[in-house]
Amino acid sequence: MAKEELECSFCGRKKPETSLLIAGLDAHICDRCIEQAHGIVLEEAKDTDKKGLNSDLTLKKPKEIKDFLDEYIIGQDFTKKVMAVAVYNHYKRLLQPESDDDIEIQKSNIVMVGQTGTGKTLMAKTIAKMLNVPLAIVDATVLTEAGYVGEDVESILTRLLQAADYNLEKAERGIVFIDEIDKIARKGDNPSITRDVSGEGVQQALLKLLEGTVVNVPPKGGRKHPDQKFIEVNTEHILFIAGGAFDGIDRVISKRLNMQAVGFSASKSDDVIERDNLLKYIIPKDLKDFGLIPEIIGRLPVLTHMDPLDAATLRAILTEPKNAIIKQYEKLFHMDDIEFEITSGALNYIVEKAIEYKLGARGLRSLCEAIFTDAMFDLPSSDISSFKVDKEYAEFKLEKSTIKKLKAVS
Ligand code: ADP
Repeated sequence: MAKEELECSFCGRKKPETSLLIAGLDAHICDRCIEQAHGIVLEEAKDTDKKGLNSDLTLKKPKEIKDFLDEYIIGQDFTKKVMAVAVYNHYKRLLQPESDDDIEIQKSNIVMVGQTGTGKTLMAKTIAKMLNVPLAIVDATVLTEAGYVGEDVESILTRLLQAADYNLEKAERGIVFIDEIDKIARKGDNPSITRDVSGEGVQQALLKLLEGTVVNVPPKGGRKHPDQKFIEVNTEHILFIAGGAFDGIDRVISKRLNMQAVGFSASKSDDVIERDNLLKYIIPKDLKDFGLIPEIIGRLPVLTHMDPLDAATLRAILTEPKNAIIKQYEKLFHMDDIEFEITSGALNYIVEKAIEYKLGARGLRSLCEAIFTDAMFDLPSSDISSFKVDKEYAEFKLEKSTIKKLKAVS
């Protein structure tokens, strides 16, 4: 074949009409066909990625979700159930192919109300772990309205992108846990008197994110500036879970309950109301009275509460969850071939102190550290092969430790 007769075996263009013609065994391919083929390869890869993403996302039925949560979280049955349903519906909505009826399933963003240390973060973490989706934990207190000192709300999505290793599609199906949402409540009842920069403005900025919108996100965080490259993140399928202690909301609830009681039978409802767990009766209106704007409440349609942790729950938290604190110490000692044992008396003592020092579940770990640190320092270089902790030992170590000072503070 003469040189000028060479042509692309795919599109038939003659060599002079191409910028490049590459020869294969029995065929040739031109630059345009290479580009086109490359495009197809990329598209295909994207599709397989998507399929892969769906199969990564392991959606269980609500009952199975609750069973999974039970392995890691003690008690909080109400929230577990509510979460299981909300998460199931959220991901069902997301995995469903688009249908042509007009029924649009709305997002089931969640708000959890409960004292600190009752497991709100743990709940969000466990859900993300179960679903195998990225999780960003952000603190609402650092967020400010654009233009003020602090972080823009878009920074939430920067964190999510980071958690997803900058895989946009993964990030767009992730979970954002916004902690301390109560701290951006509007202060005072009259918003018009002072402009409340850190509160209502942030709530307004969050609205769009919660509902579902496309946001320009600076991939490395920081303030937006004109010549920065952005990643467009669609928040439509991102599940937002907000949590907060809402200190003082029990007064709002009790006020409402008493007012209702006047209208109905006061003595009767007094009997039923569990006074030490008023959060149980929380309704969206209480959040509004606390200072969240109605639009935010509307975009966090699933409202749930965390029960306070009593002694029995704290005791169970020490030993029962899959990665319970005591199990972790057991493992640590075991790695040094040391048999670790702790008596029931010692465990009860730790719980007692956690309650006395008002440390909650978070305190269990610090108490354990205070008790075990000496042993963890000394034993690995000794020939001792077993370590038993009883109440006296725990008491002795705690008496010596600085954690005792917490008592004076609280
Ligand atoms: P919150 O977000 O409500 O302030 P966290 O989820 O951070 O509380 O919980 C604090 C610590 O206490 C974590 O180490 C967590 O493992 C433990 N914890 C709290 N509540 C529970 C629970 N119900 N079951 C198991 N561990 C819990």
